[in-house]
Amino acid sequence: MAAITCEKLTKRYGSVTAVDRLDLAIGHGEFMVLLGPSGCGKTTTLNMIAGLEEITDGTLRFDATDVTWQPPHKREVAMVFQSYALYPNKTVRENIAFPLQLRRTPRAEVERAVADVSEQLEIAHLLDRHPSQLSGGQRQRVALGRAIVRKPSVFLMDEPLSNLDAALRLSMRSLIKHLHQRLQATFVYVTHDQAEAMTLADRIAVMRGGLIQQLDTPDGIYSRPANTFVASFLGSPPINLVEGEIAADGRFARGALRLDLPPGAVAPGRAVTLGLRPEDVAAPAPGLASLEARVTLVSPLGSETLLEVVAPGDVALTLRVPKEWRVRHGDSMTFGIDPARLHLFDRQTEARL
Ligand code: ATP
Repeated sequence: MAAITCEKLTKRYGSVTAVDRLDLAIGHGEFMVLLGPSGCGKTTTLNMIAGLEEITDGTLRFDATDVTWQPPHKREVAMVFQSYALYPNKTVRENIAFPLQLRRTPRAEVERAVADVSEQLEIAHLLDRHPSQLSGGQRQRVALGRAIVRKPSVFLMDEPLSNLDAALRLSMRSLIKHLHQRLQATFVYVTHDQAEAMTLADRIAVMRGGLIQQLDTPDGIYSRPANTFVASFLGSPPINLVEGEIAADGRFARGALRLDLPPGAVAPGRAVTLGLRPEDVAAPAPGLASLEARVTLVSPLGSETLLEVVAPGDVALTLRVPKEWRVRHGDSMTFGIDPARLHLFDRQTEARL
């Protein structure tokens, strides 16, 4: 296990700053996910940790050792890529054995390690095949096998599941989580898939424009998003964001829409954006704010029902309600909302209030 410390880590390509003075401390054995939209700098950050990209500025440490200028093969890291990067002319056995052979590991030991890893990854029956004879999921298991066989202290993974179909992604996700628990190594995992980030991470660094927007546990990021960008990047369907202001009576106001907020939440007159997660509605009850809305679309999901509704002031919202609720298109309904579950952001800065 190794702790990884990035201090003011910076990567510039000419006039483009891909990663901008990034500070990030990743703990021993932590599963850190770098999450963000395309172009936010997550791959560049991972590649700097791997030693595949030269660091323009800043310092990178593995434990107490400064590795900023250390070549990749000197770093105790293994990488797993979206594209698998297997050797096409080698069998599965040879692909997995290769990192050990490079280190001149005795043959019996290599055989033992390959057998052990292929059993863990349930690919023992594929050892004599070539990559072209494998499915995408099997190829990614081989790539994982090649990464874990030499027992590195750090695993760096760049969108390893992006080329797999949805069902396979789910099973590979739990495989990776099991591996992390078993290997007790430090994992840094890049993805733009918020569900992957939520399920895998101990902590998530949400990135935008080469900067970390928020660094927190999955629950922290979801329940207390630092700004509207983070709020809308996590959650499916996404959070409802409604621009308005704080009325004189302390309630949220947007046209004819009024919603109770926790007492004294924000001073009257302030321009705010209100955030409501689709699932944060309930049946009306004492202590809950009430919201009248007309249902314009009902989409059953099996376990729950998705509703599109229009609230006063022509505010369109997406809500997720229990499947037991009998709702029909055109119904006028009253929903209960716990004011403590509402999110408020400054409308100008977009920061959480
Ligand atoms: P994706 O999910 O699309 O891979 P990302 O978040 O991993 O995106 P990076 O690949 O790290 O983003 O890229 C960050 C920024 O740096 C982008 O604006 C990209 O265009 C730029 N960039 C990356 N590599 C280079 C390069 N070799 N030369 C110039 N600009 C680059």
